[in-house]
Amino acid sequence: MESMPARPKLGQNFLRDTQAVQRIVAALGDVSGRTVIEIGPGRGAITGALAARAGHVLAIELDRELSAGLRARFAGGNVTVAGQDILTFDLASAATAAGERLAVVGNLPYGITSPILLKLAASHSALDRAVLMVQREVADRIVAAPGSRDYGLLSVTVQMHGPVERLFTLPPSAFSPPPEVHSTVFRWRFAPRFAELGVEEASFLRLVRLAFAQRRKTLANNLRAAGFAPGEIGSALARADLQPQARAEAISIEGFAEMWKALDAAREQMPKAEPE
Ligand code: SAM
Repeated sequence: MESMPARPKLGQNFLRDTQAVQRIVAALGDVSGRTVIEIGPGRGAITGALAARAGHVLAIELDRELSAGLRARFAGGNVTVAGQDILTFDLASAATAAGERLAVVGNLPYGITSPILLKLAASHSALDRAVLMVQREVADRIVAAPGSRDYGLLSVTVQMHGPVERLFTLPPSAFSPPPEVHSTVFRWRFAPRFAELGVEEASFLRLVRLAFAQRRKTLANNLRAAGFAPGEIGSALARADLQPQARAEAISIEGFAEMWKALDAAREQMPKAEPE
């Protein structure tokens, strides 16, 4: 596998820092007897250390040559290699087959980081925790707090699905070939907040997407552009204790939940159209 050229289109920057490998696997906590999904195992830098600790590793690798190499290397052990695209892989069925919520680990292909994170978020009921490596700037956005430059749609979406912690950052030299960016490992515990905050998942996330549609606009203008009436928006801002000029990047997750409830209530109170 070492001799195969890396495919940049598949985000192939292989981890060569063995200490970092140990730290990533340790960050998952106790996985003895458990099934762990590895996203993009590549040449197996993390897979071997993971297999030594976990009950079962389900390694999902899109590159056919790499998946064949991994199958040969881990034959007869506790590693199953699926030559599949993580974006279409059925995590819910894997959790059902394992009889438990899954742990996930991965040095992600950076070109599809957001789709992978959204897929994990959407599959939260199948997942327990994840330790993931992403581009440093993406990690900054994931863990950002309201009011910071990096706070946005990605922060709210990920944090609504459970708490995140930044763990450590690696320089390009930790990989072969070296990427152009630094990389950060973070941990994500899946504990969705929708029920606790009294909001419905799909429409809440839709509201947040609308709120961040254009960062230069105020929240009110973004909602107006999405078709909400000015009166509705005004009462929702007041209920969430927000100024009329508030911007989405200043609003906490709890603030968005108040907005969602107020907009929902306003919609309920609106006169229904007369039947024709
Ligand atoms: N885990 C290895 C390591 O740390 O050295 C490789 C990490 S490399 C950054 C990303 C890996 O994801 C590559 O092996 C690449 O082939 C694989 N990959 C890219 N797109 C994928 C996809 N859609 N589904 C599954 N694997 C993918």
